[in-house]
Amino acid sequence: MKRTGAIVNTTLITMDPQRKRAEQGGMVWEEGEIVFIGENQAVKRWAQQKKLPLIDGTGRYVFPGLVNTHMHLFQNLLKGLGADLTLEAWWPSTIKPAAMLLEAKHLQAAAVGGTLEAIRGGSTTLVDYMYAHPQEGLSEVLIDAVSQVGARLMYARGYRNTGADYGFPKVLIERTKDVFSEINRLQRDYEEKQQMVSFMLAPAAVWALDASGLMDTRGFADEAGIPITMHMFETKTDNVVCRERFGVKDALSFFKQTRLLGDDLLAVHVVDVGARELDAFLEYGVKVSHNPVANMYLASGISPVIDMLKRNIVVGLGTDGAASNNTTDMLETMKITALLHKTAALDPTAMTADKVLGMATIEGAKAIHMEEYVGSLEVGKKADFFVFYPDGCGKSSPCHDPVASLVYSSGQQSIETVVIDGRTILDKGKFVDLDEHEAYERQSNMARDLMQKIQEA
Ligand SMILES: [Zn+2]
Repeated sequence: MKRTGAIVNTTLITMDPQRKRAEQGGMVWEEGEIVFIGENQAVKRWAQQKKLPLIDGTGRYVFPGLVNTHMHLFQNLLKGLGADLTLEAWWPSTIKPAAMLLEAKHLQAAAVGGTLEAIRGGSTTLVDYMYAHPQEGLSEVLIDAVSQVGARLMYARGYRNTGADYGFPKVLIERTKDVFSEINRLQRDYEEKQQMVSFMLAPAAVWALDASGLMDTRGFADEAGIPITMHMFETKTDNVVCRERFGVKDALSFFKQTRLLGDDLLAVHVVDVGARELDAFLEYGVKVSHNPVANMYLASGISPVIDMLKRNIVVGLGTDGAASNNTTDMLETMKITALLHKTAALDPTAMTADKVLGMATIEGAKAIHMEEYVGSLEVGKKADFFVFYPDGCGKSSPCHDPVASLVYSSGQQSIETVVIDGRTILDKGKFVDLDEHEAYERQSNMARDLMQKIQEA
């Protein structure tokens, strides 16, 4: 009965299509699925009859778990190292040496640490775009580590099939057919995990794939029914590379030519774009992962998210890797998203708390084709949620409006309980199955070990 329970005396911010708030009510979940949302008395009766563990939600609010649509968990070992650099200088100095020397023990520690940190910030679904494969078997290490902590994972298997002329080391360049056969194998190996572990194809960026690499990606995606995610238009480099290397007018022409665009594509960043690109995104149904902290940290620019939303393009939120953010915390990303776009538009109504929460939940779920399962609190969906306790820390107390409070004044200490797939992972501020501080100490040790290996290389 571990994936079963009920909560009463609370307010549920459902994020369902009507944006319903169930006040003074509760919710029941069984076998990992939400089976009832409604009045306290009905929930209490249900819990009594079935002898379910009951949470008292007095003074608390229940939100759907946040969906982080773009991360690189291995970068948790690199926090702070990439400070004050441009994207083009940051990659070779910070990411490349670590990606080349990454071992299973480093990745395991980073993935556990980064996942614990993400869950503390209310995330329940993580898209990990794992592109550092200097040795075989790292995909399994990542998937097993995230699963051990208990988060729902969309594993985006990253790869590059070219790019030596842009400074990519040979050890990180793979043949697409080897990548695809690994994904086929992983799908078989993790089949019983169903919606807890899903897969995406993650070609790294336009300077890391040639035309045939992208066309092969489209072919495999169509054949296997696996969605694609890729760093796109992060800076001006995409357009420059496409002109110089492929002799086309711009990156959009190249993406059309290689048939990459489609409603199964999640484009990450999308900063250096204008009306032409956004119209094409709408036409093809391309979704966007907005990563404002990374864009600000690397000064890549401001993604025109308001224009995207006006066009009804699906936009989810991501933290990106900790090397360009320094945390996997989505609470911080929500606040920064709101502030950035208010300032960019010189209009405080341009990006509201409710819009931001939508991007961090149901829109993020749509961006990764998981909206049938997660992103809102509705009967039939997975029991993925967190309990927000405003008086759990000074930052979020007092609370007049739970959505505004969560977006603008919450912190990890305001997230009291996190349930994923009906399992309680964080219970009243404590991880149930894992010693959190031991995991962070191990992460620090592994970060030092990796840095030493880089220095010795
Ligand atoms: Zn990224």
